Amino acid sequence: MKKKKAAIILGGGISGLSLAFYLRKNGYTKEICILEKSSRVGGWLESQTDQGFFFEKGPRTFRVSRSESLLTLIHDLHLEKELLFSSEGASSKYLFYNQKLQKVPSNPFSFLTSKLTRLLLLSLFREWKIPKNIEDESIHAFISRRFTPEVADSLFDAITTGIYGSDSKTLSISSCFPILKEWEREYGSITKGLFLHKKKKSVYPYKPSHLFTLKSGVGSLVTALEKEIKAEMITGQEGKHLTYKDGRFLVETESASYEAEDLFSAVPAPALAKMLHKDHKELSYLLGSIPYTNLSCVHFGYRKKVLPVTGFGYLVPFKEKEDILGVVFDSEVFSQQSSSEKQTRLTLMLPDRGLPDEKLYQLSVASLHKHLAISDFPDYISLTQCIGAIPKYLVDHQKKISDIQKIRTKELPKLQILGNYLSGASVNDSIAVAREVAEQGLLR
Ligand SMILES: Cc1cc2nc3c(=O)[nH]c(=O)nc-3n(C[C@H](O)[C@H](O)[C@H](O)COP(=O)(O)OP(=O)(O)OC[C@H]3O[C@@H](n4cnc5c(N)ncnc54)[C@H](O)[C@@H]3O)c2cc1C
Repeated sequence: MKKKKAAIILGGGISGLSLAFYLRKNGYTKEICILEKSSRVGGWLESQTDQGFFFEKGPRTFRVSRSESLLTLIHDLHLEKELLFSSEGASSKYLFYNQKLQKVPSNPFSFLTSKLTRLLLLSLFREWKIPKNIEDESIHAFISRRFTPEVADSLFDAITTGIYGSDSKTLSISSCFPILKEWEREYGSITKGLFLHKKKKSVYPYKPSHLFTLKSGVGSLVTALEKEIKAEMITGQEGKHLTYKDGRFLVETESASYEAEDLFSAVPAPALAKMLHKDHKELSYLLGSIPYTNLSCVHFGYRKKVLPVTGFGYLVPFKEKEDILGVVFDSEVFSQQSSSEKQTRLTLMLPDRGLPDEKLYQLSVASLHKHLAISDFPDYISLTQCIGAIPKYLVDHQKKISDIQKIRTKELPKLQILGNYLSGASVNDSIAVAREVAEQGLLR
């Protein structure tokens, strides 16, 4: 029998939950049902304390300057007292470059003297003369063209790995670092853009460069949303098939059918592609052609201080051909989340190569020994396998999204789509899209 609902949100990650919150805030009165595949809502947002060690399984840090929508949600939920800012020491970042751990310069003097940025500095002086290219291109091609291939291989490859867990040679500059492409278009140069662009003033009184989280972890954002949105949550139900007929949507799962007037998809692109496969082949094909990165996150806990340096952590450019992509020094960034001052908590990111857990732990121990000379064996070990972790914004991703939206508007105009595959892979971007959709949702 079909279960009748007024509105269904498919997927209970931060996109789906914040959509429900903003629909309510904008006066949407229909009953909302969130249909979620797994046994809990929150998606990648999950905080866990195990054997006295606190870890985030997914997102863990947010920069004030890039988190206006997230901060607004935190304020809207009255969670501002829960904000936890990183210590000053956490601003130091490192690169494992040329087989050595090197500090990324963080002030003008070190910028001028560091070996890492000297390459960038020299090319800055000629960068403003380089002609524009209005077409999309890979991050690596863009940085090599405007600066040098060495700058692309060292700094930008590592930054890309840190944010997208993927290779700068395949990802799109226009989608991953739109501001750089915008500066090229507007000022003809990144260097000029850096000096001439007007910084947007934040409405929040926090230092733009600070990193933040919530005291009990990002999981508390999920708990607060669950309490606030007063929606029916149906977990353990994976949407398998989606159709639209006679003004109503039909969602079929393994064991039930749900009918709804309004439908919002907040599931990853491949999941929606599968659901539309039978009746909307072209839309399904385009959604299914957005690849996702798989990552393995290894969490190590020690009952003593083992780090030889302080800071946020380090990244490893692909060209170094190491086993890991980077390490976050969790206990240094947010020391207040440790249950004892002596603890060290580290999260290592590894590319998913289908290796058994034991092998991943061995590679992690060996990498920490090689990069940081840590010879202690961790007191606590756990693993988060992140399958379909982050969408890969390949070159011409924006064109693909625009094609998806065109076909959706033609074939399924009442279906609203959201998620981090549209216009930004972060939690902040996901919330921004959800808020936008919630505002449009009322106008329909
Ligand atoms: C390891 C890792 C670290 C990250 N670190 C950061 C960070 O530090 N800062 C930052 O800003 N961002 C970070 N991100 C990115 C951030 O987590 C995501 O952008 C964000 O969580 C996406 O939320 P979402 O709701 O769109 O998707 P998801 O969290 O993927 O939620 C989608 C939900 O849909 C459900 N679902 C899937 N298929 C179906 C179906 N067929 N039917 C019903 N339900 C379905 C899923 O179970 C899931 O609950 C990180 C991501 C990962 C994986």
